[in-house]
Amino acid sequence: MTQCWKVGDVTITSVLEDETLHIPPEFFFPDATAADVARHPWLVPDFADENGNIGLRVQAVVIEQGSRTVLVDPCVGNDKKRSLPFWNEMSWPFLERFADAGFDLASIDMVVHTHLHADHVGWGTHLVDGDWVPTFTNARHLYTARELEFCREQGDPGVEAVYADSVAPVIAAGLSEIVDEDADLGDGLQLEPTTGHTPGHVSLWIESAGERALITGDFLHHPVQCAEPQWAEMGDYDVEQARATRRRMLARAAETEALMLGTHFTGSPAGHVVAAGDVWRFVPVG
Ligand SMILES: [Zn+2]
Ligand SMILES: [Zn+2]
Repeated sequence: MTQCWKVGDVTITSVLEDETLHIPPEFFFPDATAADVARHPWLVPDFADENGNIGLRVQAVVIEQGSRTVLVDPCVGNDKKRSLPFWNEMSWPFLERFADAGFDLASIDMVVHTHLHADHVGWGTHLVDGDWVPTFTNARHLYTARELEFCREQGDPGVEAVYADSVAPVIAAGLSEIVDEDADLGDGLQLEPTTGHTPGHVSLWIESAGERALITGDFLHHPVQCAEPQWAEMGDYDVEQARATRRRMLARAAETEALMLGTHFTGSPAGHVVAAGDVWRFVPVG
C-alpha cells in the first residue's frame, strides 16, 4: 500500500525500499538500551515494540507539485557492494513499487539528497551490462559542495564505493548541479543546512498554500530522539553539532506545526512534533 500525504497543493508519497523491525536500539544508539526506549510507550506500535526494540525504514519520497516532480533520497539501490550485509548486493523491488505508485523514471525533474550516505543515493544509478548508469535521466541531481567533498574523501573503492558507483556516473552524464546548503529551489521548496550527521547535510522544507512539511534526512533517525535528542546515532560525524541541530530543528518543527516526515521512520512516518517539557513527542498522522 502506497502512503501519501497532502500539504497544501503538494502531494508527498513514500516509496518503500525496506523496513526492519525489532532491532536492539544499541545497534544505532550506543547510549541507549531497550529499557530506555520502553520508557516512551507512545512509540508503540509504529516505531518500537513493547520490549523497546526499534524499527528502521529505508524509503524515498516523491514530491508532486504542479508540473514538477521531485525525488528525495533514493535509498540503497540494488547490486551495490556494501560493507553492511543487509545492504550488500540487494535485489529489492523498489523500481516496481515506484511504478506501482504511479511514477515513471523519466518524469523525475529533480533529485534532492539530504546527504550522500549509501542509503540516500543508491537508486541514482543502476547496473546495465556491468556499468552503473543514471536511473533518472531527465533529473537535475542536487549536491552540496561540502557533502560531495566528504563523500569523495570517504570513498574506499571495492568496499564502500558510494561516490564511484552512485555519484560519479551522475556527474559524468551531466545530470548534476552544486547548490548552496540553504538554496531556494523554487515553488516553496527550501533547503536548510542541518550539519552534524554529516558535514554538508541538509533538510528540505515544503511550503504550499499556507501549509508546511519537513523532510528530515538523518538529523534524526528515530522518533525516540524527539524525547531523547541527546542520543547520538552511530553514524553521526560530529556528535555535538548533531545534537544542537536536532534540538533546533525539532523546536522549529513544533513551532511551525509542520508535517514532519522522518526519512527512516517506520509505520506512519509523517506526523507532528509536539513540545513536552524541554523535549518533544512525535504524533503520527494516518
Ligand atoms: Zn546518514
Ligand atoms: Zn540514512
